Amino acid sequence: MTDVTSPVVDEKPCFGANPQIFKLGLGKQHILAHDIGQGSQCRNLPTCRCEGLDLHFWRKMCKNCGCRMDEHDVVLPNEFDHAQIVIGRLFGAREHFEKVLTKPGMYKPNEQNETKENNMMSTRSQPTAVYNYKMASSDSESERGGSNNKENVQYAWAPLPDKNLVSRYMKALPEDERPLVGSKGEQNRKSRLQFQLPLYDCNVEDARFVEEKDVKTLQNFVENVRNNVIGVGRVVEIGKDSDNYGDNENTNEFEKSMTAALKGLKIGETDCKDCNEMMETGDIGVECHHHSTTDTYHPNCFRCETCRQLLVDNIYFFYKNKYYCGRHYADQLYPRCAGCDELIFANEYTFAEEKSWHFDHFACYKCDFKLGGSRYMTRDENPFCLDCYLKHFAKTCDTCQSKIGPDEKRLNYNETHWHAEERCFQCVQCKMNLIGKKFMLKNHKLLCSSQCKANYNSANPDDQL
Ligand SMILES: [Zn+2]
Ligand SMILES: [Zn+2]
Ligand SMILES: [Zn+2]
Ligand SMILES: [Zn+2]
Ligand SMILES: [Zn+2]
Ligand SMILES: [Zn+2]
Ligand SMILES: [Zn+2]
Ligand SMILES: [Zn+2]
Repeated sequence: MTDVTSPVVDEKPCFGANPQIFKLGLGKQHILAHDIGQGSQCRNLPTCRCEGLDLHFWRKMCKNCGCRMDEHDVVLPNEFDHAQIVIGRLFGAREHFEKVLTKPGMYKPNEQNETKENNMMSTRSQPTAVYNYKMASSDSESERGGSNNKENVQYAWAPLPDKNLVSRYMKALPEDERPLVGSKGEQNRKSRLQFQLPLYDCNVEDARFVEEKDVKTLQNFVENVRNNVIGVGRVVEIGKDSDNYGDNENTNEFEKSMTAALKGLKIGETDCKDCNEMMETGDIGVECHHHSTTDTYHPNCFRCETCRQLLVDNIYFFYKNKYYCGRHYADQLYPRCAGCDELIFANEYTFAEEKSWHFDHFACYKCDFKLGGSRYMTRDENPFCLDCYLKHFAKTCDTCQSKIGPDEKRLNYNETHWHAEERCFQCVQCKMNLIGKKFMLKNHKLLCSSQCKANYNSANPDDQL
């Protein structure tokens, strides 16, 4: 044991000053039944002992285990696929998806759903997709375990029902991004669906915290997404005529050859918009026709400009000549509540900890006490009321064993803490105040000198230091 000088008294409060809460207000308490995903298994098992998702009434967080909702294996009612709901809503084919396609199958626009809305979409590629698509794996490289036998593989999603294209497309993706049923890739797809395409961004009924007066703003936002923003990249073989559902092929071919000529490329060749490498005739690419723009990407380069995740199911949101996931498109137009994850359309909201919050959602992470206007502490980026913080995180004084309040001066020495007061930081033997002086620490006892240590030991034969 060496004696060391007492640490400098730390006078700073151990939390940042309450940032100015710009606006405060009280709203109605929303408690809604939400059946989506209740009871779903947490994927962080076995580290996390979750008995099944029990969603907090407004945080997208599990009350049982504290993990995020998207860390649970959320199963939607009626075996819906999250992507089917989004495409159904945003491509004006809701009827098709929510009534007809309740079972695995394929989506291909047909005359029946050539509605007015679809005509507005005609300057863009129409989505094609197959869900739970079974096919024989290619014989050269079996997709599973390297076995050479022809095996059936099943993809939770595939871009189009063309075994050859699907197989080449999947091979162009990293293995853990291939949505092979039962694999890591399928889980990754599910997580990306939830993260990239929040359902409450694209449907008024799902946005639980949009106030009456702002409903119209959300409706306009959704309308604009449908008409001008959303699209699905099409998987094509570069230079081959792709199956142009609903597109005017002649115009596209003409545009393509003009674009190629302008770039000095042979027809069919093009540059990947992301990595700028040339894509040759016969390569597999993802092609986007968005109004007058045509862009081509390598399958593994078609990523959100902000989060750089692969755009799930090639669903993109086009904004200022760039491609985004739904979340990061919306985030450029409206603040998103750090509590409930929904967009904030109200003009007034709380801005704290460099994040935006609905008034009611800037609340203690443990007890939901509304923190607007009160003092709070942050830990791991989450706000806590003072009571909860003291209970769960405050340091205990090594001498008096009580919690050191956030405002109290304290002394820290390695992992040991004391109130910076004479009664808690004195020599156990001669009671000298040790703040700012040399001290020794032995069996949780403070000493000023080896002399006091010797005196203490002879006075306390049962407690030798
Ligand atoms: Zn859980
Ligand atoms: Zn968990
Ligand atoms: Zn590329
Ligand atoms: Zn993104
Ligand atoms: Zn909120
Ligand atoms: Zn609390
Ligand atoms: Zn103390
Ligand atoms: Zn002493």
